[in-house]
Order: sequence, then C-alpha cells, then structure tokens
Amino acid sequence: MSASSLLVDNIGELVTNGPGEGPLGIRRDAAVLVEEGRVAWVGPAAYAPAADRRIDAGGAAVLPGFVDSHAHLVFAGDRAAEFAARMAGEPYTGGGIRTTVGATRAASDDELRATVRRLRGEALRQGTTTMEIKSGYGLTVADEARSLRIAAETSSETTFLGAHVVPAEYADRPDDYVGLVCGPMLAAAAPYARWVDVFCERGAFDVDHARAILACGQAAGLGVRVHANQLGPGPGVQLGVELGAASVDHCTHLSDADVDALAGTASTDGSGTHTVATLLPGAEFSTRSPYPDARRLLDAGVTVALATDCNPGSSYTSSMPFCLALAVREMRMTPAEALWAATAGGARALRRDDIGVLTPGARADLVVLDAPSYLHLAYRPGVPLIRQVLHNGVSQ
Ligand SMILES: [Zn+2]
Repeated sequence: MSASSLLVDNIGELVTNGPGEGPLGIRRDAAVLVEEGRVAWVGPAAYAPAADRRIDAGGAAVLPGFVDSHAHLVFAGDRAAEFAARMAGEPYTGGGIRTTVGATRAASDDELRATVRRLRGEALRQGTTTMEIKSGYGLTVADEARSLRIAAETSSETTFLGAHVVPAEYADRPDDYVGLVCGPMLAAAAPYARWVDVFCERGAFDVDHARAILACGQAAGLGVRVHANQLGPGPGVQLGVELGAASVDHCTHLSDADVDALAGTASTDGSGTHTVATLLPGAEFSTRSPYPDARRLLDAGVTVALATDCNPGSSYTSSMPFCLALAVREMRMTPAEALWAATAGGARALRRDDIGVLTPGARADLVVLDAPSYLHLAYRPGVPLIRQVLHNGVSQ
C-alpha cells in the first residue's frame, strides 16, 4: 500500500463513465481508492481496501471532475457595458473582441496572470479539474506568445488562437495578417501550445484563410480545433472534419451535410479523426441567441461535448454546472447526456482518455456533490452543490 493512498468512501451514487449502470456507468454504495494521484480501484464500499486516509462522502454523489474544453482566460478588462447594451436590444456581431485586444495589449504580465488564476480558481471551485485555455486577445507576435506562456503556467491544454479576428491595424490587408499568423506568430506561439484554432466565421476568417492557418499549425505539430458555425451557416464544421479536427466548437447553425460529416467521423475505427461537436450554451445565453440543436446531433450519433466558452464578451461564465443546466433545459439534452458531455465528452474533445472518467488508471479528478444524485446539477440550477474537489488526488 502506497503511503499516499486515499479512500473516498460511502459514495451513494458514483458516476464512472465506465463500466456500471447505464451510459454514465453508475455504481451505488461505492468507494474509490486513490494512489499517486490516480484511481487505483473502484468497487463496492463493503469491499473497499484499507488506505492511509479516508474521505467520507456521506452517501452523496461523486462524479469525474468537469472537463471544460473551450475557454478564453487570457485577457484584460471587461465588457459589462456591451452586455447591458445587448440585453437592451443591440445585436451581437463579435466586433467587441477588438475592445478586449486593446486592453490586453496594454496589460502587464502580472495583470493577465492574475485574471487567469482568478478564473481558473473560480472554475475549480465549481468542479472543473481540466480547463483548456486559448490565446487570441494579443494578436501580435509578442502578445500571442506571452498569452500562451501565461496560459501554460496553469494548463497543459493551451490553444493558439492568433486567428481570432483580424486586428484593426491589418483591417484592409487580411492576407498579410494570415501570413503573420502562419509565420513568426506561430513560431513564437507553438512552444507553449498544444492546439491551433481559428474563428472561421463571416467577419472573422474565411474558409481559405482558416484552412491555411490550421494547416500551418498542423505542420508545426499542433492539433486542430475550430470555432465554427456560431453566428450563421458556414464552411467551418466541414473544414474541421476535412482536417481531422479534435473538435468543432459552437455548431449553432448546421446543415444536414454538416451533421452527416460529423456523424461520419464517429466510427470507432481507431483512425484518430473522430471530431467532437462542442456546444457552448453560455454564448447563446449571453447573446440571447437561439441554442444549438443538441438532439439533432445526438440522434445522428455525433459525439457532443459541453464547455463554457468563458470570455469577457459573449459568455462570461466559468461554471460548467450552469452550462449543464442550460443544456438540459434549453437544448433538450437529458441530464445524463449533459453530464457525460461535460466530463467524458470534453475529454474526447481534447483527445484525452485519462480524464472525464473514474476507472482504474484515470487521473484522480473527482467532485463530491452536496446532493444524493448528479440529477441535482440541472434540477437545482444556480445552487452551489460542489462540496469537495480532488485534482490529481489532492483536495483543493
Ligand atoms: Zn470561443
């Protein structure tokens, strides 16, 4: 027995996303043994092995920590006034990103670092144990590189989003900006990034520019993700599928061909080209826009993830439980589908199999609820139900 063993005992309802009852692999009256930051054993509480320390879950529900696979945390300033104007009837166009770019460039490293840590801490207290972090508010070689350097202090899931918008100084020569992104900006950013992403949308980057940037990122060893089909129909989803993206994100305006393309990647043939549809209902909530049609995707067999899109403009929430409740109430996902999408689905969107599950060998990232069942996450929206969070087996 390792000196660091910990038993989480007396779990009324354990969600494993592995073997067990139903699609969530639920086990009743269970226990989880943690050693060296990993899940070492899962089974009936009555047969739990001895351990050095014990957490008594008191009959409550225990779940894998949430995997938030889409967040923009490196920025300065806020856009509360823009939110208020939008709620008073002004449309959302995405143009406010440039406001944040100005504030971010003017901020010190320590100011940016403090914001990342504050938001990461906020998310952790709400049960998020993995959080992807994008750049995209620097949009110069130096500012994108420092954004990713700061992001990498907090997460190994970092994404180069130099192609968020064309910055004002390149407004009349977007080809030159794409050249900058693919050249010196990528070279400076790649050492701190695991992924490359593009906002492929009218008013941001067209399909040819998006393909060029994603291909350069791939050639530099980065995995592909795409902001696609958020504000209207477009080519982003099919571009993502074409390039073998791990995830296409937003998916609010989809054609039948888009859904078919995503469903076609869902076969488990081991080819590694499986593309997840990551839905971000916090963005539709905060821009008062129609939600994506999750049922259509699920019924077609597409793998769906849920994430926050945490950013100061279109979705300033770090709360996965809030997004899960929106998915159930507004997108007609069942509570089980929404919880799977917020844990195992997010892991798939990051091509990870060591998180989002509580099975032997997985990272010991788990959440003890102040509730007898995961159903309460959507049933009791807005209520702080996260009693305890373990990250790498360590209580936070
Ligand atoms: Zn985003």
